Amino acid sequence: MAEVLVYVDHVDGAVRKPTLELLTLARRLGEPVAVALGNGAADTAATLAEHGAVKVLTHDAPEYAEYLVVPKVDALQAAHEQVSPAAVLVPSSAEGKEIAARLALRIGSGIITDAVDLQAGAEGPVATQSVFAASYTTKSRVSKGTPVITVKPNSAAVEAAPAAGAVESLNVTFSEQATGTKITGRTPRESTGRPELTEAAIVVSGGRGVNGAENFSIIEALADSLGAAVGASRAAVDAGWYPHTNQVGQTGKSVSPQLYIANGISGAIQHRAGMQTSKTIVAVNKDPEAPIFDLVDYGVVGDLFEVVPQLTEEIKTRKG
Ligand code: FAD
Repeated sequence: MAEVLVYVDHVDGAVRKPTLELLTLARRLGEPVAVALGNGAADTAATLAEHGAVKVLTHDAPEYAEYLVVPKVDALQAAHEQVSPAAVLVPSSAEGKEIAARLALRIGSGIITDAVDLQAGAEGPVATQSVFAASYTTKSRVSKGTPVITVKPNSAAVEAAPAAGAVESLNVTFSEQATGTKITGRTPRESTGRPELTEAAIVVSGGRGVNGAENFSIIEALADSLGAAVGASRAAVDAGWYPHTNQVGQTGKSVSPQLYIANGISGAIQHRAGMQTSKTIVAVNKDPEAPIFDLVDYGVVGDLFEVVPQLTEEIKTRKG
């Protein structure tokens, strides 16, 4: 059976959820071989094996932490040479997309970014993408070289699928460019205790209807009752009510959660572009004609200042 390389996104050995989702997709294409790099790489093996990795190639060196992405590209290229995989799957983070693009260029392959689904096809993996501000869904495949595909978070379920997960160390020789761009400092983001927006299973967003920075506390309270991340429309961000890092849409982040709750958001095309692939969409809006209602699975016509706190209380009560 063909092997499929999966690039592992992890923090000191703790595997991030998008990588486990990649393993689910990789198993549709062949036998997943995971590539884990940097501090704690070997510690990822047990989790990766539980989710279907037949092999885990690991390598640790200070270069991974001290320099930008090129050392990781060198390593992934070494893994590609060792395995000759049927495809290389990388999480669609900013870093993942840069690694994937550089790898594709090095190995002379085509690349597909931001896939939201992946299926085996007669002529190689077929990737589904949501394009042109989510107006169209396309299916495409790479016709040259080993397909390199980045996949958006929440595109597949995390599934337990115990496999051998045999750990092998990867031989990596760093290229001259590897040490070209040094990381001079890191400023950890202040933690809100909420999940990362692009990875969250549930996103609760607020728009212009929230009517002030201080009122975002009711959006946050609903998010916290659900263990969700908080998003915002550009109107809310431009008004200075919520940070730009939380903006959802064409010029913000693209999210694909299981559940997206839009509060006081009209549903402009540029907002839809960032959330239209959410599995279930709920909107609270006082205007029954708001375009967001064309998109939703469940819509509540009402004042968010009445509806959202009631929803939060109901969820808290049901959760006990
Ligand atoms: P509005 O369109 O003003 O809608 C507010 C909604 O709140 C209305 O539907 C209203 O009925 C409802 N409402 C008001 N009060 C209440 C209440 N008390 N209870 C319930 N409902 C209430 N937008 C993005 O979001 N993300 C992007 O990334 C983005 N990128 C853009 C890029 C470009 C190049 C351009 C031109 C625009 C972009 N926009 C983006 C802006 C986009 O066009 C809209 O202007 C924006 O999404 C509107 O935000 P909104 O829905 O919060 O506000």
